[in-house]
Amino acid sequence: AKEAGRNTFEFYRPDAGEEAGNNLLLLEEIRSGLTRGEFLLHYQPQIDLASGRLCGLEALVRWAHPQRGLLGPDQFIPVAEEGGLIHALGKFVLKTACRQLQAWQRQGVPVVPVSVNVSARQFAHPGWTDLVRVQIERSGIDPHQLELELTESMLMRNVEQAIATMHELRALGVTFAIDDFGTGYSSLSVLRSFPVSRLKIDQAFVRDITRDTSGRGIAEAIISLGHTLKLRVIAEGVETPEQLEFLKAAGCDEAQGYLFARPMPADEIPGQLARDPGQ
Ligand code: C2E
Ligand code: CA
Ligand code: CA
Ligand code: CA
Repeated sequence: AKEAGRNTFEFYRPDAGEEAGNNLLLLEEIRSGLTRGEFLLHYQPQIDLASGRLCGLEALVRWAHPQRGLLGPDQFIPVAEEGGLIHALGKFVLKTACRQLQAWQRQGVPVVPVSVNVSARQFAHPGWTDLVRVQIERSGIDPHQLELELTESMLMRNVEQAIATMHELRALGVTFAIDDFGTGYSSLSVLRSFPVSRLKIDQAFVRDITRDTSGRGIAEAIISLGHTLKLRVIAEGVETPEQLEFLKAAGCDEAQGYLFARPMPADEIPGQLARDPGQ
């Protein structure tokens, strides 16, 4: 750590120059990690609240770093975005999810749709729709099994372009969810112009359910907004039975969170499906 004040403990904070250097280093590591096959996907179950059945999986990227262990996306996605590597990483994620779907299909695993996170720069990349088309064709999956998660704030950046890109992808059979919903200040009229099928209530609102009545009111409002737009509503970050009970009573359609299951490696998914009470 750097020199700290006399009686204070200070965390080491790199200055702007050092940070840029560290990011360049990390960027190089990401690049070589991609070619060495160090990245992988974990999958987190999504539960249909009416039936209790597993109804979908969210693909979440991980990095099995040779020195630092398993890293989560927050530790490398922002740097990959800034450094122009997000397209390569996004390609890996999409390809891996499609191949995994295909593998489960071949093994006779009762497949459910897989949702893939797409970042703003990936989505705005001119090659993006072609990439999706090619991955669907190569893997031979049913495109309806592939859902793309787009955040509300990224859709609001360029509404016209987002709608156009979404329609192109929709024509392939792909579906959409709005991720982190409630954090992006979109108006109802704009919302209804996006061809989406699901709204994902941001975990911050799910957390607030157990905090106070206004937290509960907001969650209810988001659910009824989603239903007004004829969308399925999924709550993420569900951790407690109280949150689950509230969401069920409020008419929320689906839930995802540690209460049900953590994100897990692909090979644990068939077991989850087998344990599923509905299967
Ligand atoms: P997100 O899309 O909002 O994903 C949900 C995050 O919440 C995941 O974190 C998940 O592991 C975590 N989570 C799930 N259930 C619970 C819970 O009950 N409680 C709490 N506290 N957290 C829960 P993760 O995997 O670290 O991903 C973080 C973010 O990184 C994601 O947020 C997403 O924005 C991004 N990300 C993940 N995978 C990808 C990817 O393949 N591509 C891109 N572009 N972004 C990704
Ligand atoms: Ca997501
Ligand atoms: Ca989210
Ligand atoms: Ca998030």
